Amino acid sequence: MKIKYHPDVLKIQKEIIKNRRDFHKYPELSFQEYRTSKIVAKELNKYGIKVKEKVGKTGVVGLLEGNKKGKTIALRADMDALPIQENSKVTYKSVNDGVMHACGHDGHTAILLGAAKVISKMKNSIKGNIKFIFQPAEEGFGGARFMIKDGVLNNVDEIYGLHLWNYQPFGTIGVQSGPIMAASDKFKITIKGKGGHGAAPQGTTDSIVIAAQIIQIFQTIISRNTNPLDSTVLTIGQINGGYNFNVIADNVILKGTTRAYTEKNRLLIKKRMIKILAGLEKTFDAKIKLDYEDGYPPVINHNKQTEFLKDAAEKIIYKGVQSPFLSMGGEDFSYFLKKVPGCFFFLGSNPDNKPMNTPHHCSHFNINENALIVGASIFVQLIEDQLK
Ligand SMILES: [Zn+2]
Ligand SMILES: [Zn+2]
Repeated sequence: MKIKYHPDVLKIQKEIIKNRRDFHKYPELSFQEYRTSKIVAKELNKYGIKVKEKVGKTGVVGLLEGNKKGKTIALRADMDALPIQENSKVTYKSVNDGVMHACGHDGHTAILLGAAKVISKMKNSIKGNIKFIFQPAEEGFGGARFMIKDGVLNNVDEIYGLHLWNYQPFGTIGVQSGPIMAASDKFKITIKGKGGHGAAPQGTTDSIVIAAQIIQIFQTIISRNTNPLDSTVLTIGQINGGYNFNVIADNVILKGTTRAYTEKNRLLIKKRMIKILAGLEKTFDAKIKLDYEDGYPPVINHNKQTEFLKDAAEKIIYKGVQSPFLSMGGEDFSYFLKKVPGCFFFLGSNPDNKPMNTPHHCSHFNINENALIVGASIFVQLIEDQLK
C-alpha cells in the first residue's frame, strides 16, 4: 500500500497532531466535554463555519454552506473519554485524575477539526453543505440520540464517521457494507424462591438451582437457536445470592449482556430469554423477573455510501482498503445510520504493528498519529468527490 495524503491536510499536519495531544492531556467524561466543545466551537468559528453549541447537551455542530445548491453531508466525531487512570509515558499524558482518552476520541475530534479547516477553504467551489458533528457521550450514554433529538440530522442526506482502530495496521482502513459493529444490550434477572434450612429442601424453592438452570439453558439460545454462521454472544457476567453454606437461597440476581450483528438475531435472543424464563417460572414455582435494557443497535452501513467512502479512501491509501477487523463491540453511530444513509469505517492506527499490545480501553492506549492525517485526508477527499 502507498499513502498519498491530501496536500492541504498535510500542510496542517502539525496542527492536527497538536490538537489531538491537547485533547488527550485534558480528557473529559461523557456529557462533561465542556472544555473540548468550547475549543471546537472556537476553532470552527475561526474557519468561518456557522456554529451551534449545546446540541445534545455538550455537543457542537458546524454548518458550512457551499456557494451552490446540493446535498448535505454530515461528518461525525465523538469527543468523550473514559474513566481510566492513564498509565503511559507520553509527554501529553492525562492531567485529569482517573480520566483518559483510551478509545481514540481525542483523535476523532482532531481529525474532524482538521478536515473542517481544509474544507472551509473550498466553500466557493462546493455544491451543497457540510455538517460537522462533534458528539458527546459515545461511551455508554448514547450521546448520538440526544443530538438527533435536538435536530442534528435535519436536512442531512448522508452521514460518515470513523473510528481509529489499533486492530488494523496503519495505512489501511476496514470497511464493508452491512453490519460492522454489534448491538449490545444488557439484562438483569431476579429470581425469587423460598429459603430454608440447607438440610431440609422440601417445601423450599431453591433460587440457586434455578439460576444454574437459567445459565445452562441460555447457552442453547446461541448454540441451538441462532444460525451458526451468524455472530452472537450471550454472557452472564455476574451472580449474586445466598447467605451461607447451609442455607437455601431465596433470592439470586444474574446480570449479563447480549451481542448480535442483526436486529433479527437481537430480537430472537431476547424472545428466547423471555420464553425460557417463563417456562422455568412455571416449572419451579418461583418468581423470575427480567429487566432487559436495549443498548446500541448494530451499526449497519449502506451500500452506496460505503462505495463512495471506499472510492475516496483508495485515492489516499492505495490498495489499503480492507475488510474490517470485526469485534462484538457497539457504537452509537448506529442511531444516525438508522435515520440517514451513511458509512462508518475503521481507520488503521496501530502504533507498532502488534495489535494486542495497545488495545482500545487499556491504560496505555496510544496510536500512530499519522493515522490522523490519513483520516482527515479521506474526509476531505470524500467531500471533494461528492460535492465539488
Ligand atoms: Zn470506546
Ligand atoms: Zn470509541
